[in-house]
Amino acid sequence: MRILLLSDIHSNLEALEACLSAAPPHDLVVNLGDIVGYGANPNEVVQRARSLGKHFVRGNHDKAAAGLMDLSDFNPVAGMAALWTREHLSDENLEWLRQLPQGPLLIPDLPDAQFVHGSPADEDEYLVTTDDAFELLVESSVPITFFGHSHVQGAFSSTPGQDALRPIYASVGKAESAEWPLLRGTHYLVNPGSVGQPRDGDWRAAFALFDSDSYRVTFYRIPYNLKEAQDRIVAANLPARLATRLASGR
Ligand code: ZN
Repeated sequence: MRILLLSDIHSNLEALEACLSAAPPHDLVVNLGDIVGYGANPNEVVQRARSLGKHFVRGNHDKAAAGLMDLSDFNPVAGMAALWTREHLSDENLEWLRQLPQGPLLIPDLPDAQFVHGSPADEDEYLVTTDDAFELLVESSVPITFFGHSHVQGAFSSTPGQDALRPIYASVGKAESAEWPLLRGTHYLVNPGSVGQPRDGDWRAAFALFDSDSYRVTFYRIPYNLKEAQDRIVAANLPARLATRLASGR
């Protein structure tokens, strides 16, 4: 089975469309949450995400926009974006966000994988360092956990000496992919990267494909219409920083 992994789209319609145009053939799509928040097209992105299938876990920005969490945990810019998103979402899309499930999500016929937003233990936890990942890798009963939330594309593995992987690309300008064969018997935490709000120093939209038959993950970075996404954020009167930071991927 070939699974397209999308995470942290953050209402960036241009980035989502670029990823879908570049995506290789796949059997199903799993969305790891933070569909909305930050960008200027929450309704269009929710509609597009919903059209791709039914496998979702909710992110903290989805909860915030849907009124399911207190905004005091958010920095001021994220909080303003969450309130703007709540005001602009249609009633139907708000209701849909409200019913999104908390991870871990399991998929029948795919016993080797689970899907979460933050971590299997806590949907709001950030997995950034090998220390964050170590205990989860050792204790997990599921070999591969796909996660988002950190907006950093890459993976952690339980193999000593290969415990953290960041895909290496030749540029930050053109469409590229990086393939990573997985080993049976090893545990992994894999982040496909953020579609619409990358924070790993590469502005390009990120996603990944997991092929459960050949047992490999392919990471992708795809240029998109950055100027259009930025112009829409400015025109929507969202904080300007949300537009400028898209260019640096920070
Ligand atoms: Zn996010």
